[in-house]
Amino acid sequence: MPAAALPQVLPDRCTGCGRCVAACPPHVLWLEAQGPEGQWRKLSVLHDPAGCTGCARCAVVCPFDAIEMVRVRAPERP
Ligand code: SF4
Ligand code: SF4
Repeated sequence: MPAAALPQVLPDRCTGCGRCVAACPPHVLWLEAQGPEGQWRKLSVLHDPAGCTGCARCAVVCPFDAIEMVRVRAPERP
């Protein structure tokens, strides 16, 4: 079943520390170098959205509040 919410990394806040990458159980986050040549910086990127369970561990562990969980489908009805 697809995740109810997916992490959205806020580029202005992400320092590329990698804690979210280490905390993600299915390993669907990785660090990617972005930006112009010579000025690149590392950012966390969700490379496999289909493999994300929506557990939010990445958002909880981020020391810089750089990850928001964004709802992608309605919650299950009881
Ligand atoms: S834990 Fe936060 S600051 Fe560190 S790489 Fe992940 S999103 Fe970026
Ligand atoms: S919500 Fe969970 S499964 Fe998805 S990227 Fe974050 S830690 Fe990984």
